[in-house]
Amino acid sequence: MYNVIIVGSGCAGLTAAIYTARANLRPLVIDGHEPGGQLTLTTMVENFPGFPDGILGPGLIESMRKQAQRFGAEFRAGAVTEVDLSRRPFKITAGNETLEARTLIVAAGASARMLGVESERKLIGYGVSTCATCDGFFFRGKEVAVVGGGDTAMEEAVFLTRFASRVHLIHRRNEFRASRIMLDRARANDKIRFVTPAVVEEVLDVSKGAVEGVRLRNPETREQSALAVDGVFVAIGHDPNTRVFRGQLDVDANGYLITREGSKTNVEGVFAAGDVKDHRYRQAVTAAGSGCMAAMDAEKFLEAEQHAPAVSHSARP
Ligand code: NAP
Repeated sequence: MYNVIIVGSGCAGLTAAIYTARANLRPLVIDGHEPGGQLTLTTMVENFPGFPDGILGPGLIESMRKQAQRFGAEFRAGAVTEVDLSRRPFKITAGNETLEARTLIVAAGASARMLGVESERKLIGYGVSTCATCDGFFFRGKEVAVVGGGDTAMEEAVFLTRFASRVHLIHRRNEFRASRIMLDRARANDKIRFVTPAVVEEVLDVSKGAVEGVRLRNPETREQSALAVDGVFVAIGHDPNTRVFRGQLDVDANGYLITREGSKTNVEGVFAAGDVKDHRYRQAVTAAGSGCMAAMDAEKFLEAEQHAPAVSHSARP
């Protein structure tokens, strides 16, 4: 039986591991299906305090992991497939193993949404990207497409104009979900060309193993067209990794975990940290801060329980 199981090994999970390990709680971290989280998909991180010259995302994560291990955190590869939070100890199933925990910290993060076309999946890493900050540099002097109509798409498009000779912003509607200020900024940038309404039917060309363009369809006229680009940035939002917790932990309309008083969820003894509960800030430093909060809350919870007279061990919904 573990005092604390941490689900997720990104910035939030690893910070929670450092804090709970230093509190002698011997936490277990379950890596998840994207070990290291979104920072491992990044190159240079220039806004994490303490690194005046920047630090590579994977390097930062590796250091955090070592730091947690130094204080006794244990790590397990694999993803959580099932949880039972109806009574304590909580039961967490990862693969064919079921583990028990007195407290749980959910730091499972969020994953980038994909368009869902086969060619996009085959060309990811070969010209298809979900992160302009990570991959924009590779498209110096080239033409790229950004897909999406929200703030992320505007932000990515504007950022990519630092490198690309032209950015085609493809959106399926003529109206945008993006905030006025972000939209205006993109519209004012003469390197950005808006292509609307347009749906990406296919990313070309899988047979060549590289992005050479996209095939588009106008959803109003059904007319098809082709656009030559060297890179496609999919910027249609993120999905929180909360599927295994649905029905047991409260989520908002977008599926993000709802917390109160810091990191508490609706189940006593279950805490949440990082992007799994935050679609607003989504920064490495805010995820780390939130991991720290969850660790301190779990520690206080265990401590209070130890000193409380024994009553019921069932989790209060
Ligand atoms: P979002 O607001 O949910 O927008 C997603 C966009 O992608 C929408 O325009 C949507 O089109 C489009 N889309 C979704 N699925 C699609 C599909 N299968 N095919 C084609 N297009 C698809 O997501 P977001 O832009 O990532 O923003 C998320 C949150 O973060 C927002 O609250 C945003 O304000 C915030 N954010 C803020 C900043 C900032 O202030 N600096 C930067 C980035 C994000 P429809 O509109 O047609 O549904």
